[in-house]
Amino acid sequence: MRKILVVGAGQSGLQLALGLQSHGYEVTLMSNRTADEIRSGRVMSTQCMFDTALQHERDLQLNFWESQAPKIEGLGVSVAAPGSWAEGPAARAIDWVGRLDGYAQSVDQRVKMAGWMETFAQRGGQLVIHGAAVSDLDYFSRTYDLVLVSAGKGELVSMFERDAAKSPYNEPQRALAVAYVHGLGPRPEHPEYDAVRCNLVPGVGELFVMPTFTTSGRADILFWEGIPGGPLDVFKGVKDPAEHLSLTLELMERYTPWEYARATKVELTDAGGTLSGRYAPTVRKPIGRLPSGGLVLGVADVVVANDPITGQGSNSASKCAAAYLASILEHGDRPFDEAWMQATFERYWATAQHVTKWTNAMLAPPPEHILNLIGAAGQLQPVADRFANGFDNPADFEEYFYEPEKAEAYLASVAGAGAGAGA
Ligand SMILES: Cc1cc2nc3c(=O)[nH]c(=O)nc-3n(C[C@H](O)[C@H](O)[C@H](O)COP(=O)(O)OP(=O)(O)OC[C@H]3O[C@@H](n4cnc5c(N)ncnc54)[C@H](O)[C@@H]3O)c2cc1C
Repeated sequence: MRKILVVGAGQSGLQLALGLQSHGYEVTLMSNRTADEIRSGRVMSTQCMFDTALQHERDLQLNFWESQAPKIEGLGVSVAAPGSWAEGPAARAIDWVGRLDGYAQSVDQRVKMAGWMETFAQRGGQLVIHGAAVSDLDYFSRTYDLVLVSAGKGELVSMFERDAAKSPYNEPQRALAVAYVHGLGPRPEHPEYDAVRCNLVPGVGELFVMPTFTTSGRADILFWEGIPGGPLDVFKGVKDPAEHLSLTLELMERYTPWEYARATKVELTDAGGTLSGRYAPTVRKPIGRLPSGGLVLGVADVVVANDPITGQGSNSASKCAAAYLASILEHGDRPFDEAWMQATFERYWATAQHVTKWTNAMLAPPPEHILNLIGAAGQLQPVADRFANGFDNPADFEEYFYEPEKAEAYLASVAGAGAGAGA
């Protein structure tokens, strides 16, 4: 049977390794950490995944935590009135929630990756605990039919050339600060169901709040994305998790008091429940060339790393793994040559390009027609629902979001349909 090496045991690497294993491939998975180290380590993401990405996991029967993880049925947007925080806590200018057609879920990657890794080994997969270097890959590319590099944003990305035409940003666009907490109350607007809440503070940044399933059960995540150099960019060098949480809450009290109101009794889930950092969104060329001439194929974040402002990276990793798995299966016994590698990436990019375009657009100050759309969603429920479901299928934003004419035509059609229905 064909031998495949997967380097990096995150969302994409594990999904691919387990998928290939279930089809009888001889898979070696290389991870720089053991399952126990991952489980007892620091949180890595907020990892909210929407229906299409979750379905890829269900297709492989890897949805081990589906019944325990909170079902996220909505996606809400609140916008602080610009400058309203100058004299005291900010006021809300916009607040609505859209309903998702299929629910989303967040399973702490510490739980999921550790569990999947153990499953891979129990099913007879060869798990190697080793931080792979380029020299290792050079050696292994001669003994495996295919080497897939799914090592996320780690050092191995240096093997893959940055694709400047697809990467408009050179620098990080947000400073990230995550805290996992117990004790958060529900949003009073919809206590009967869970939603991802996106709170936009114009010119300052964003706060995302969402439920998750972590090592200690149900929890919620408070996730600040701050414009670099601005008032939210204050987490650098903060080592003490308690200090990280109190900074998070102080900022919430000032910029998103409506979220702070339900956070007054929170405590951190565990000592590893905080994370801060930043990275530049980058698309890379998919094929890495080794010193000896061998080729490796980059997977998910290695080749397309978007800012988490739209919560897409794990979704994309799942979609990438599904696309690559299909390409590998369809290819049969033919060699995994350069043309196949490029075509395999293009299959993924057909989806990923929409994610990159939308995410990069959301990082920039919104033009007037996008402000109009977000504002109109407060009065027109179909607009709110469509925006929410765009997180599952970002290609839909092409239809109404980017161009002012399309946005106006869409809003007019929804408003007209509403008026017609009411007449
Ligand atoms: C703060 C934050 C919030 C986020 N929120 C969301 C969200 O809500 N929704 C969403 O969809 N996405 C979100 N993302 C993005 C998402 O977490 C990533 O895009 C996703 O995990 C990428 O999957 P991956 O398989 O490419 O890489 P990863 O999940 O990063 O996995 C890579 C693995 O490779 C290992 N590795 C690295 N180097 C080596 C090496 N040399 N040898 C062996 N192993 C190695 C790493 O330790 C890691 O285990 C968020 C990201 C961040 C930072």
